[in-house]
Amino acid sequence: MILFKKTNNLRKYLDNQKEKNYQIGFVPTMGALHEGHLSLIRQAKSQSDLVVCSIFINPTQFNDPEDFLKYPVTTEADIRLLLSAGCDVLFLPSRDEMYPPEASGQPPFYALGELELLLEGKFRPGHFQGVCQVVDRLLFQVQPDILFLGQKDYQQCMVISRLLELTDRNKSISLVVCPTLRETDGLAMSSRNRRLSVTEREKAPVIFHTLCYVRDQLRPGPTGDLLKEAVSALTAAGFRVEYISLADARNLKPCTDWDGQQELVVLCAAFLGEVRLIDNLPLN
Ligand code: AMP
Repeated sequence: MILFKKTNNLRKYLDNQKEKNYQIGFVPTMGALHEGHLSLIRQAKSQSDLVVCSIFINPTQFNDPEDFLKYPVTTEADIRLLLSAGCDVLFLPSRDEMYPPEASGQPPFYALGELELLLEGKFRPGHFQGVCQVVDRLLFQVQPDILFLGQKDYQQCMVISRLLELTDRNKSISLVVCPTLRETDGLAMSSRNRRLSVTEREKAPVIFHTLCYVRDQLRPGPTGDLLKEAVSALTAAGFRVEYISLADARNLKPCTDWDGQQELVVLCAAFLGEVRLIDNLPLN
């Protein structure tokens, strides 16, 4: 694996590889890697000739400065894991490399429409603008053929798909959404899980079990009572629920009365202590 910290050097190397007609697969991350990230690397290995992973904890997507400061940094362990998964290139830019101080003008605005006002967008104002800002820049730097994202961040996948359209990159980049990897007790793997205390970690799978309960109990008709039950179950287990929503799988608009046909996804964000967990389950 080759490690690059500077865009110029990364570009020179990738231009050479492109001349060999290599297909470049790209997995952007914020580090503190786990098996979920590695599953993306492996999927990228199986579908491209050269896999680039980036690690950059993007300050502009954190609406809570504390969350940014507490985000785990485990670079040495990350490098070992990437080597074991067969990653070819690690891009590890500094903050100045991503956001040069001399270019600190008004950030671009991405017209995401209603998508950034719902769910994560509602509870984390500005989050998706920050995500688009960094992914736009990373895509410019890496110029991949295939972009690999995790369904764990369902709404983020939709936002980035929209970003590809807005920037016309959908013509040169295909998006592959990979399934959510879970611990054996159902908890979705996440870099934030390592911030849970022992007792919080024991309670954390309730989020997935509640999503499964909603999936199993869903019947055509009004959905309000089922969602209230879900909130109660999570609250009883010690979660502070931000949202749990049954939503249209294609536009995330809430479904208050299911016709038995519409494709749905159930999505949830909830705090356990200071740690904010998100999860989702596509239903049909
Ligand atoms: P992050 O480092 O949290 O920004 O995540 C980097 C990429 O890994 C994103 O595309 C995530 O959706 C994906 N990812 C994170 N956790 C998981 C998981 N448990 N299973 C699959 N993909 C994941």
